[in-house]
Amino acid sequence: MTDCLFCKIIAKELPSTVIYENPNFLVIKDIKPLAPVHLLVITKKHIPSVDHLVKNDKELIGEMILVAQQVARDQGVNQVGYKLGFNVGRGGGQLVPHLHLHLLSGGETTK
Ligand code: AMP
Ligand code: ZN
Repeated sequence: MTDCLFCKIIAKELPSTVIYENPNFLVIKDIKPLAPVHLLVITKKHIPSVDHLVKNDKELIGEMILVAQQVARDQGVNQVGYKLGFNVGRGGGQLVPHLHLHLLSGGETTK
């Protein structure tokens, strides 16, 4: 058993709105969207934050950005543009200590 919120979402022990899934990532809708489109690209592997990445994670992180690119195209927001962001640690605004990439599009917050 894990106490990690995103590990529980990945294990489908907690509900979420899944937008995309592959062997390494789950993409869900953010429960408190800060923009008309606000998705989270979550690693299936539990890594606490960007600060915990190691050289071996290089390929995984590259794939993470390509997953975000693909989902942005699927959602039709690549034309208008979008923002990708990592919060790193408490001082960086990270509330959930499981690696995730925010994808935001539309509205003031993406400016
Ligand atoms: P961060 O502050 O970078 O750790 O971002 C965590 C994000 O997860 C926030 O934008 C939250 O709104 C979002 N969040 C928290 N709980 C859930 C949940 N159960 N389902 C979807 N998104 C969530
Ligand atoms: Zn986790």
